[in-house]
Amino acid sequence: MSDESAQDTTVKRTTVAAPNPGLKRGADIEASLHVALERVARGGEENLHLCRPAACPSCRGSGGRDGAPRRRCEACQGTGHITHSLRGDGQAVLIQRITPCPACYGRGSLIDHPCQACRGTGTIAREATLTVTIPRGIADDTVLRITGQGAPSPDPAGGAGDLLVLVQTQRDPRFERDGANLLYRETIALTDAVLGTTRAVPTLDEAATSVLIPPGTQAGAVLRLPGKGLPGLDGGRRGELQVHIRVHVPQTLSHEERALYERLRVLASRPAIDGDDSAAHSEERRLPGG
Ligand SMILES: [Zn+2]
Ligand SMILES: [Zn+2]
Repeated sequence: MSDESAQDTTVKRTTVAAPNPGLKRGADIEASLHVALERVARGGEENLHLCRPAACPSCRGSGGRDGAPRRRCEACQGTGHITHSLRGDGQAVLIQRITPCPACYGRGSLIDHPCQACRGTGTIAREATLTVTIPRGIADDTVLRITGQGAPSPDPAGGAGDLLVLVQTQRDPRFERDGANLLYRETIALTDAVLGTTRAVPTLDEAATSVLIPPGTQAGAVLRLPGKGLPGLDGGRRGELQVHIRVHVPQTLSHEERALYERLRVLASRPAIDGDDSAAHSEERRLPGG
C-alpha cells in the first residue's frame, strides 16, 4: 500500500510539472437555501445540507481501478484538443480550427480499467452539512458564491469548483416580503372602518405594535410604519411595515342590526342639514306622523 501511494505521489508531481493545458478546475455546483425573515433581519449562520460530488475513496479520485493513474491521451498529446490547420500555397496558416479531442472527450487523459465504485468518474455523491453566513438584509434570490466547496477537479492537481447557494426568503404566515418592506394584512369590521379603532400588529422585533386605524379608513388603505421593516443591505435604511386594510362587510344581520343599517341608509340619503343635532332630531320625530 505504501509503495502504491508513493507511486501515486510521483505521478501527481509529474502531472504538475508537465505543461498541461487540460488541467481543470472542478465543476461549480448549485444549492438552494430558504431562510426565515428573522434571519434576514439579523443575519447570521445557517446550516446547509446538500449532496455533492466528492473524490471517490476507492480510487482516490483518479477514476482508475485501485487508484491507477489516468494515462496521457496520445491522440491529443494530453492537451484535450486537436488543432486543424488549413495551409495556403506558401505554407502559411490560413485557418486554424480547434476541436475537443474525440478520443478522450477533451480530458487529455484516459483510463484503461475504470474504478468499479465510481465507474471511472473519480467522484461519488456525498452528503455534507456546511455553515453559510447570511448577510443582514440579504435580498431575495441572492446567489452566494462559496469558493472551493464545489465538485473536486477531475485532475488531481486542479482545484475544486465553487458552491453557488441561491438564498430565498421562506414563506411567512404573518408577512409578505417586498424588498426591505414587510406587508401585513389586517381585516377590520365595517363599523371599525367608519368609527376608527386600534389594532395590535406583529413585528419582527418580537413585541407587537399598536396601530391606530383612523375613523373613515377606506378598504385597501395602507398604513405605513417606517423603520419596522427589514434592514437595508450594507447598513442601508430599514424598510417599513405596511398594514394593508381589508374591510369586512357583514353578510348576515340580526333584526336589530338590519333596522340600524336601514336607519343609516335613510339618514345617508337625506340632504345634509346645516345646524345642530336637535333640529335634525325634531325633524326625524315628525316623519312617522307626517
Ligand atoms: Zn485526447
Ligand atoms: Zn473511484
